[in-house]
Parts: sequence; C-alpha cells; structure tokens
Amino acid sequence: MTNLNLTRVCLLCACILACNSANTAPAVGPPGMVEFFASGKTRQGLKLLDVTGEMIVLGRDGWMHSFNPADKKYQVRTIEDEYSPIEVSQMRTELGGEFGNQFEIKSTKNFLLVQPKGRGNKWSNLFEQSHRAFTSYMTRRGVNVRQGNFPMVAVVMPDEAAMYREFKRIGIQMNRVAGVYAGQSNRVITHDGGRQDFIAATVRHEAAHQSAFNSGVHSRLTDTPKWISEGIGQMFETAGMTNAATGASREERINRDSLTFIKRTYKGRSDTDFSADVMELLSGDTMFDNPRTVSKAYAVAWAMMFYLGEREPKHFAQLLNKTATRPPFRNYPRKDRINDVERILGCDTFEFSKRVSWYVHGL
Ligand SMILES: [Zn+2]
Repeated sequence: MTNLNLTRVCLLCACILACNSANTAPAVGPPGMVEFFASGKTRQGLKLLDVTGEMIVLGRDGWMHSFNPADKKYQVRTIEDEYSPIEVSQMRTELGGEFGNQFEIKSTKNFLLVQPKGRGNKWSNLFEQSHRAFTSYMTRRGVNVRQGNFPMVAVVMPDEAAMYREFKRIGIQMNRVAGVYAGQSNRVITHDGGRQDFIAATVRHEAAHQSAFNSGVHSRLTDTPKWISEGIGQMFETAGMTNAATGASREERINRDSLTFIKRTYKGRSDTDFSADVMELLSGDTMFDNPRTVSKAYAVAWAMMFYLGEREPKHFAQLLNKTATRPPFRNYPRKDRINDVERILGCDTFEFSKRVSWYVHGL
C-alpha cells in the first residue's frame, strides 16, 4: 500500500516545450545534428525544434534538451553527422564515469541499472518485470507498442538523502517522493533506503511512465493529458499488475488506495459530483496542480483508465493511439481533449462518468 500522506506528484516534463504556445505548429527548423555544451559536457543531438529563443534537441543518450541557442554558453554548432542513438556499451561506460566506483552498472534486456555495489538482482528484476507487464498489458489490448530507441536508465541511490542530492545535481526540484521518472533525462531515479513495499509501488508507477514514453504509448513530443498518463501510472503501481502469477485476476490489479479514496470521497454524493470531476480531468490538467485536488485527480484518473483498460479495451487502445500520434509541439486545447474522448468512446462525458462510477463502486 502506498502512503497517501506522501505527495504523489510526477515529473512528466517530457513535453518541455512549445506545448504552451499557440495551437498552431511552430516553425520547425531544418532537421540536422548539432553539438552543444550542457550539464558540464559537450553533447550531440538531433535538432527537433528551432524557433526564436528556443531549440529542442534529442541527445544521443535520450536526454531532451531545451535551451536558447543564442546564449553563448551552449556553444551550439551544426555538425554533419547522422543521428544515431548511443551504443549500450558506450552509455554504460559513461554512466560508470558519471556515478563513480561506489556504484555498479547492470545491463539487462531493456535497462541500464545504476545501483550501489552489492545490491543483487532485486532492482533489475523489478524494472524488467514492470516493463514486461506493461508491454504485455498494452499489446493485448491493441495499443501500439514499439521497441525503444534507447536503453532505459534506472538509477537507485543508496538512501533518500542521496536521492535528493542526485535530484539537485541534475536540476530536479521535488520533495516528498520515493522516486521519479524525469522526462528530460528519460531516467527513473529512486532509492534503496526506505520501506520496500512503498518504494516498490512508486517504482512500478514511475517505471510505467518510463515504459510508456520509451515504447511510443505516449509521445515525448506532444502533450499527453495527465488523466491518461497518471491513470496508467496509478494502474501499474499495484503489484498484481506486474506479477505474472496473479496478474490474471482483476482483484489483484485493483489499486486499493485509489479505490478507497474514491469510495470515501464520493460516498453519499450524487452522480453529478463525480461527473464534474471527470469533466475537469478531461478538460485539462489543473486538478493535478492544486494541492487540494491532486489526490482526487490521481484516484479518479486511475478509475477512468482502469475502467477503460478492463471494460473497454478497444477504446482504451484507440485513446492511447490517438494521443500518442498527435502532431508534435502543439498544445491540446480543452475542446479537442473532450471531443476526442467522446468520439472514441461514442458517448458524452456524463455517460462515461456514470459507467466509470458504476464500475468502481462495484469493485
Ligand atoms: Zn506519475
């Protein structure tokens, strides 16, 4: 069980950009490779966006960089090379240099895991198992899943204090979390110094984000509505979602924290209260930004996505495939968010919210 007193705020800054600008495609400059200086070293990457005052570059290591190319400190220059993701062996060497000799780098099928020396296989097993369960759940429902372009990097720090030092080092401002998926670096960062069941739940949640953004279930270049991305994060928090032995049972897949929260919050209230919250989540992400509503946002987002995943798998897939293929670097206006959902589900928001409410109250 996760601890609801701990703030559940995720750092999905995958769309770091121009998503806040007008709803027209920004002028994307000619594609090409650039070399630039950032976070203490010279890097190379593919230019994805080049507008006045902002360049967005996908690094060879999967980092997404956003900076002002006119600022001399970035030393931006065009280079002739073709873009190719970094080799696993080179990335492994670089991670070794970055973290030093107190850490070991374990290479698994899908991950490069950085952990303190001598911690065995529990972390690599957890990450691999989470990723396998994620791709299997998505594939079985018809969600488009592709092989990622980069090895996924998971960083396990020895304890909470070390994790916060690592956050600070790479410019992440967060507190009261047990781990994070940082969209810019494409890394999950957590620690090995706390209550194992709670940390494992957080890791499964964050690993689901990492899997989603690396397998094309979400795009790193468009705005994914938070009720979708966080609903999925909440779904995979549950051990039963990642445990092949029990994954077949719906009971085991239920996020009990979210379910309890919903039953407690909406007890004795009318359908329209729940529907109003569903409508707000469909319209935009503000419910996640307000400390008074953030817990409700996560719980209701879970209910919406869990209902779709379990009862309307085709619509679940259509919704994910739609949001992952929207044009890059555009915001997602309220009207389009609602229209897309209503069109895919074939019903209006009130009807959808009634179905979700009926389903979760029957769990
Ligand atoms: Zn999350």
